[in-house]
Amino acid sequence: MIPKSVIVFFRQRHQYLSYSYAFFLVFITPLSIPAAWWTWHQGLVTGADIGLAVLFYSLSALGITIGYHRLVTHRSYQAKPWLKRAILICGSFAMQGGPAAWASLHIQHHRYADKPGDPHSPREGFWHSHCGWIFHDYKPNYRRFGKWLLEDPEVKHVSKYYLLYSNLGLIIPALLGGWVGFVWAGLLRLCLACHVTWSINSICHRFGTRDYTKTQDTSTNHFLIALVSFGEGWHNNHHRFMQMPFFGHRWYQIDLGKWLLMIFHQFGWIWDLKIPKELRADPEPTS
Ligand SMILES: [Zn+2]
Ligand SMILES: [Zn+2]
Repeated sequence: MIPKSVIVFFRQRHQYLSYSYAFFLVFITPLSIPAAWWTWHQGLVTGADIGLAVLFYSLSALGITIGYHRLVTHRSYQAKPWLKRAILICGSFAMQGGPAAWASLHIQHHRYADKPGDPHSPREGFWHSHCGWIFHDYKPNYRRFGKWLLEDPEVKHVSKYYLLYSNLGLIIPALLGGWVGFVWAGLLRLCLACHVTWSINSICHRFGTRDYTKTQDTSTNHFLIALVSFGEGWHNNHHRFMQMPFFGHRWYQIDLGKWLLMIFHQFGWIWDLKIPKELRADPEPTS
């Protein structure tokens, strides 16, 4: 019999980043690095294990950028409900909280970027902006940041079953690849996916270049982070045009998330892309 207090604890916490998740992500998942190194030197790692790790990395990182971030937080486009649910489930594999909580805290970041009130302000140091902030157990304020989040059926569903879905990101690799699959596509993949997302808040508010110098924050563009985060690293672009679904604004700014969205658009699975007039290839004539 599970004590009532434990049930209440998880009911209250399953929609936002909890302290135990933070501890697991920051201190436990890096143990997969020596474990992966050992399995590699023992010759236990197959091509299928590497493929599984790349697949789960891509699913979780894409789920975060085109699902949690561009679709739910900024409502940059509309998507068919089945696609929305699938993308958000993939995003939950990154174990960064349910989509409603993630989006609400991110809206708060944009509202107060680099100022008091920003959950991961770079002014409080690199560690804080990278992953120290998740130990603070910030509670999303839905009334102020993202009222619509709790009215969206797909966001509500994935947030409600977040504990189940997020753990599938560990369980499926273990079922498909045994314990080596669990180490590579489960823990190591999760460790990398989290540090890449956290780098947007730390590295992309500290190092890199600024195409839009007039933004009222320290956001930067960073090519390497953009490459591994499927476009998130064009963070200065994003702070300038928050609702724009494409984060790479120039032809050489690689944004793999954008390419995937363009494919979805071709299929008719997504629509109503909020591309600002200034950034359209063929801007409407102004008179
Ligand atoms: Zn930012
Ligand atoms: Zn954003």
